[in-house]
Amino acid sequence: MTGLLLLLACPGGDLPADSASLADLEYVDLGTHTTGDTGFLTDDITIEVPEDAASVLVHCGDFGPSKLGLVWTLDQPDGTALFDGAAASNPHFKGNSHDELVPYLIPLTPDAPLQAGNYTAQIYVDGGSPVDLGCEAVIRHGEVGANATLGVEFVFVGVEGLDAASAADDAGVQGVVAEMERAFATAGYSIDASYSDFGGNVATYTVVDVTETDYSEFNDLLATSNPNSSRTLTIFMVQDFQTDEGTTILGKAGGPPGTATFGGTAKSGMVVVASSMGEDPVFVGRIAAHEAGHFLGLYHTTERDAGAHDVISDTPECSSGATADCGGSGAENVMWWTNNSDATSADFSSMQGKILRGNPIAR
Ligand SMILES: [Zn+2]
Repeated sequence: MTGLLLLLACPGGDLPADSASLADLEYVDLGTHTTGDTGFLTDDITIEVPEDAASVLVHCGDFGPSKLGLVWTLDQPDGTALFDGAAASNPHFKGNSHDELVPYLIPLTPDAPLQAGNYTAQIYVDGGSPVDLGCEAVIRHGEVGANATLGVEFVFVGVEGLDAASAADDAGVQGVVAEMERAFATAGYSIDASYSDFGGNVATYTVVDVTETDYSEFNDLLATSNPNSSRTLTIFMVQDFQTDEGTTILGKAGGPPGTATFGGTAKSGMVVVASSMGEDPVFVGRIAAHEAGHFLGLYHTTERDAGAHDVISDTPECSSGATADCGGSGAENVMWWTNNSDATSADFSSMQGKILRGNPIAR
């Protein structure tokens, strides 16, 4: 799983309630695929991509919180590998290890645009025993426009002094929204924000308890996601994360990529720590924008150890992971691996914007 700042419809989730208004989205049942017959790999999971498709989001699960799964191979219609887990490098696709379910989005970069025809994947799941993966996809039809709207629903989970009724007049919340609007404007997006109060057990999730090997409480919170429109990103605003000593989590998204337009999965949204929102809403807003970037399919421009970069060719790369060394080399990007308080603003690149607007969640 990606670290700091950093998750079905049937089977394993819910079909969108507003399917009728989502004419450019097509949901496809890809069937059940079992690991174990070939090592710990599934058989071929194939999605047929039509000529007019802008993006495809697949997810396969659910194998629970104690196993990890990942895309091991992904072949394109032209017969070449978009990703091969055994290859020395994969310039146009990335995958993380995921608990619960494996989501994957195509494309992850304009450098390898979506092709028409069959994409075939195999998924690896560890844990030593065969598991059945139910796989489902959403295909977004049509061109990726220059502008789009991102619907976000802030769900307040025991944030002191704050609820959905007061959010529209709360300087902290509005500061967070303003910073998300500023960052996403650089990607051609406007933000449509709405507010609601958490309907579940507030006491359980006010502080989200996770460890390096157990994110089940985080997953369970995301699985309560049930926005009015499936084209809405659910942002749970909590008081804090409780985690391993020496680790601080200020926000975390399902994925990358999250299961956009699918409610009710362990990767159906994101969580942001709201406790410092009153004092520094821009800081919290930057975290929210960064996590939303992950949810929509973006990776860090440079990772903490500088050993890995994203697959997008117009984002700067730094040979160091130290923020102070990387001015002009990616540290001003929203998807820099950590918050850069020295940057006057954090923006998306042009190609990141195209991937963000291509996500099925874009209105
Ligand atoms: Zn991150």
